[in-house]
Amino acid sequence: MDIKLKRAEGLLEITWREETPRRHPVRQLRCECACAGCVDERTGVRTLDVDAVPDDIGITNMALVGNYAVKFSFTDGHDTGIYSWDRLYGMCVAP
Ligand SMILES: [Zn+2]
Repeated sequence: MDIKLKRAEGLLEITWREETPRRHPVRQLRCECACAGCVDERTGVRTLDVDAVPDDIGITNMALVGNYAVKFSFTDGHDTGIYSWDRLYGMCVAP
């Protein structure tokens, strides 16, 4: 697979095996962060105020987590979200 950040478009493009690339809006990735700082671990309720996420939010760094996930650092300073490949694969894509 291949993962590319399209900064100017605010999109993350992932090419899974033998498929056409899927483009994920960076803002959506940020809003769907499932870390303990964004979602209440006990209740599963999202505590992140998605309206406060800037429209032009970007990704400053991507780091692989073992062989099952990737961790993004966002321009709002948030960097605790881990996105498993399974979860990314199931996410909505940009039109
Ligand atoms: Zn988070």
